[in-house]
Amino acid sequence: MPAPVSFRSRYKPDKVVVEDLSIGAEPIPIRVINNYSDEKPNIFNYATSNRFTNDASKMVAPVGDMKACSCHPRSGCLPGECECEDASSLIFDPESRIVGQPIGTSTYNDHHYVECGSHCRCRGKCNRYMSHDYLMKKVEIHYKPNMGFGVIAKQHIAAGMPIINYVGTVVTKEYHDEYRNQLASQTDYIFDNLNEEHSGIAVLTDAAHHGNISRFINHSCDPNTQIVKVYPYIYAHGSEKISLPKIVITASQNIRPGDELFVSYGSSYFHTRNIPCLCYTFCCFVPPFDFEEKAQTEKEAVEERAVRRKAVRENWHNTGDIPSIDPPVFDID
Ligand SMILES: [Zn+2]
Ligand SMILES: [Zn+2]
Ligand SMILES: [Zn+2]
Repeated sequence: MPAPVSFRSRYKPDKVVVEDLSIGAEPIPIRVINNYSDEKPNIFNYATSNRFTNDASKMVAPVGDMKACSCHPRSGCLPGECECEDASSLIFDPESRIVGQPIGTSTYNDHHYVECGSHCRCRGKCNRYMSHDYLMKKVEIHYKPNMGFGVIAKQHIAAGMPIINYVGTVVTKEYHDEYRNQLASQTDYIFDNLNEEHSGIAVLTDAAHHGNISRFINHSCDPNTQIVKVYPYIYAHGSEKISLPKIVITASQNIRPGDELFVSYGSSYFHTRNIPCLCYTFCCFVPPFDFEEKAQTEKEAVEERAVRRKAVRENWHNTGDIPSIDPPVFDID
């Protein structure tokens, strides 16, 4: 009688190359899986909150300068009464997630939320708090031959739920080149959407040296997460300094275990680096420049995208074979 074939034995278990990328800094260990080689992510300092260079810290206003709400702790912070709530562009149920707002198509500058805290009269007892300095959902980092490292959900994440803050070194644009020259690794993990129009001050968050798992989230023009700017206080008009928001990555669709997390880097990411996006989704906003010439109709565009996606996958290490597509340097760690 043949030995019974176990269901499990037909599957190769995932090869764990790092047991916990956060080295204990996160409440949930973050495994790194690479079933293709022994390659691990480049070394960086795992950090759960932002670091500031000296020049950037001088630009950021202290909490004491900022306007807060005057709600009584017992009455709670209610719409129409709470200044923090009314200064927010979306409704967040602290027990669960963003509610009552159409989400899923927004970009960075569309949404902001003002949290309550110890500087408010409510002392933050209302629980109006969206950002946390730790990973809020279970994820893993997986290596894919055509993508490099990416972030994979290991649990269901409902649309509107916060996942993690984008964290790095906060540096002003003026000082950034000098800062980069001091780094050993020149990997591109720059979040440069922190232009505060009201003050004219431009800072960016660079996760090359310090960062968390958010630095591994790859780009898609059809993403399943979105970014919400979360302010720890209401902006005080007339201040010369900026109120720096936390960048909270939230699910914009229901995400299932095994799904890769994608965020939109925004079209300026590709324009400033002069590289095309290679996602070839129907809504790609920076396709390679000759894409539209080749595809005159919607049907042709669908076929052209399928051909391009296949070509990118097959020629990832030999991009010279694909005419007019620059090497995809942006999402390889
Ligand atoms: Zn309030
Ligand atoms: Zn409050
Ligand atoms: Zn408040």
